[in-house]
Formats: sequence, structure tokens, C-alpha cells
Amino acid sequence: MDAWDEIVKEWYPEILSKKSYPLKISKHYTSAQRWEIYERLTKNQRALVNKHRRYLIQSQFLEENYLLATDWVFEDFKVNPFFRTSRRQEKLFCKCGRELKVQYIVKSQKTGERLTLGISHFAEHLHVSENVASSISQGMTRVDLAMDELLWLKQQNCPFPEELWQKYHLALMYNNRLKQPKIPNKKLYLRVAEFREAAFPIYISDYQALQKEIDSMYRQTQLEEKTIHVKKTDFFENRTSAEINTKAFIETYQIFLKKDLSGIRTEDCQLTKLPDSYFQELLSLLRKVKHFPPSLAEKTIQEFSDTPQGRWIQPQIYKLILEKYLLHGFKEVFFYEIPRPMRNGLLRVLKKEKEAMKSPLKKENQRNTADSSEKKSVEEWLLVKKQASTSTRKRAFDVLQQLEGLRKEDPSINKVLHDYYVKIKEKLFDDGDTSG
Ligand SMILES: [Zn+2]
Repeated sequence: MDAWDEIVKEWYPEILSKKSYPLKISKHYTSAQRWEIYERLTKNQRALVNKHRRYLIQSQFLEENYLLATDWVFEDFKVNPFFRTSRRQEKLFCKCGRELKVQYIVKSQKTGERLTLGISHFAEHLHVSENVASSISQGMTRVDLAMDELLWLKQQNCPFPEELWQKYHLALMYNNRLKQPKIPNKKLYLRVAEFREAAFPIYISDYQALQKEIDSMYRQTQLEEKTIHVKKTDFFENRTSAEINTKAFIETYQIFLKKDLSGIRTEDCQLTKLPDSYFQELLSLLRKVKHFPPSLAEKTIQEFSDTPQGRWIQPQIYKLILEKYLLHGFKEVFFYEIPRPMRNGLLRVLKKEKEAMKSPLKKENQRNTADSSEKKSVEEWLLVKKQASTSTRKRAFDVLQQLEGLRKEDPSINKVLHDYYVKIKEKLFDDGDTSG
């Protein structure tokens, strides 16, 4: 069990006890059993099964070229699940009027005329050979056998694999944060989402394909040795948008993974990479509109999208960026909800901005250091000077004191004292030059 299993189990304790998905089936039903299971399905489930039957029949007709010699092409089929029961139901008929359980509809390529018929009357009504008619019949049996897998899973009460589906969404979130993301299989994703909507078990091959996608994304996460922290709230928000509009979600997701501008640029943009000046402008614009009322913020961004630079990117991308920015600011999650080239560009200029902010600070610090060392040396110098002058003064006072003492005994000292006083006066009251 990998780390993602643990996260999903922590977030979805209610699906902990689900048993593992079947690995293969070998069961095939008789026609009667098949219709019995089919009849018990809900309307949505029947629509889902019909859709897949239609797809299989279509492929069978195309691959085998049954109607190559004719003007007819297979168009559709209809089922009356309550054929020959007392339930009121729209009845289905062959061209000859025979009531049918399964009705095939073919269309003329030349005239557009439609013809309805049962599987056993292809030879009669379409004038194909008996051989071709029996090939068609065999082909339709192959379709039945392929459909048995779904009916069998349903019969086993095998639920839609919700745990795997959630784990796949978690994987998609991690994948979006990788340097080398995997492009998910859109068809697979949409098919599985349809089964989920109808609360139906999925094909075993689809289950395995989903598992493979998850595994490859997990491997890449480990390969990049990136510790990615996906928050529960981000995950649930993401999951909700996937549930609201599955198709839009996977299409957007795929476009947003692209490193180049192909998914988001307009015809006006001939560039392969947008310049930093563009992102700087967008960045300052976002900061500016942050406290604007929403309508004004929208208008301002719209105006930017009409400038020669702004026209490089599709207007709806700006709308999305603004929406996510107003919601999250420049938090990590904001960058993961916008297209990759926009994410990388904005992060690049933000990083440069940070570095630029740091470097004048550095210079300031350096100047401060220079200043302080200078200041320090001045202080030391002043201190030395002060000490020097103090000692000079002290010496002078000492001399003056001695002369004063002597003056009392010898009045001639008066003149010596006066001369000395005149000589040192300047030095005594001047902190400046002490060299003397
Ligand atoms: Zn007929």
C-alpha cells in the first residue's frame, strides 16, 4: 500500500471495507439471462449499457465491413426490454411487421432512407448474401459476450470503484504539481465518470487502466523526490469541480498541464514564451485590483486583456486567474489552479522581485557595516584623543597646582605661572590638537 492509499483511507473511512475488484470473469449468459439482468437495471443504467452496446456494434460493422456491397450503413439499435410481457411499452417491428426485442436501424447513404429490421432478416430486407447475414449475426453475438462482463459485474453487486476514483483524483492533484506530469487518458476518464454517474461497475480493463495511470503518476512523484503537500480542502474543492462538470474538468486539466502556450494563447500571439515584462504587468495589475469591488476588478483585467500584450492570451484565462487570485491570493494553491505557463511566469517574476528586494537590503546592510566600522573607528579615535587631551590637561593642572603652591613661598613664581598659563591655555580649552 502506498502513501496515497493511506490518505484516501483517512479521508474516506466509509469505503475502507470495500472488497477488492474482480480481476477477470469467465461467465457468459444465455440470451434469456442477459435480458433478465438488463430488465432489472435503472433507466440510467440501461441508457449506459445501450450506449456501450451501440459503440461495440458500430465498431463491429466498421471492422467487418458487412454492408460494403450495399448502400446501407448501421445507424442505431433499439431494445424493448419488456418484449412479449404484459407491460405497456413502445413496440418495435421489423420491416415485414414482425415484433422485435432488438431492432437494428440502417440508413441509405444516397437517399437518407431508414430501414428497421431484426437480426434474422438482414438477408431478406437488405439483400445481402446468407453468408454476410450470418456474419452479422455472429458479430452481434460477440457484442453480447463483450457486454456480459458488465452484466456479470452488476449481477455480483459489484459497486462502482469509488475508492479508486478518489485515489485517481488525488493522483491528478499530485501530477499537476510535478515537473514532468503525465497526460491523463481523457477518454478513459470520461468513460469511468459516466459509469460513476449511473452507479455502475466499470470494465475490468478500465479498472486496471486507471490503476496504471495512478501508478505511473505515483512513480513520477517519487522519481522527482518531491514532497508535495496536498491539503484536504484543496482536494475536496478540486474533486467538487470535477463532479460538477467532468468534461470541462478533464479538458481544462489537460490544457493546464501543457508547458507551452498552445492551450491558452490566441492567434495574436506568435511567441513561444511570454516575456517577464508581461508577467510583471499582470502581477502589479492583480495587486492593484485586490481590494477593488469584483465588477471593477473584472473590468480592469478585461481592459488589460484588450491591450496588445494582453491579447496574447485567451480572455477566459484572465477571468480564471482573477477568480482564483481573489479567492486565494498568492497562496500555493492559486498557482496550481492556473495554466502551467502562467504559473511559471508569475512565479519567475515573483522570485526575481524577492531577490531584488533582498539585494538592496544586502547593500544597505553592507553600508551599515561600513558605517559602523567607520563610526567605531571614529569613536576609538575620539576616545584616544580624549584620553590624550585629558592626560595633557591633567599634567598641566598638576604643573599649575605645583606652581600655585610655590607661588605662596616665592612671589617670583607668579610670572612663571602666568607665562605657563598663557602657554597651555589654548591646549587646556581646546580638545583639538594634542600633538604638542
Ligand atoms: Zn422482417
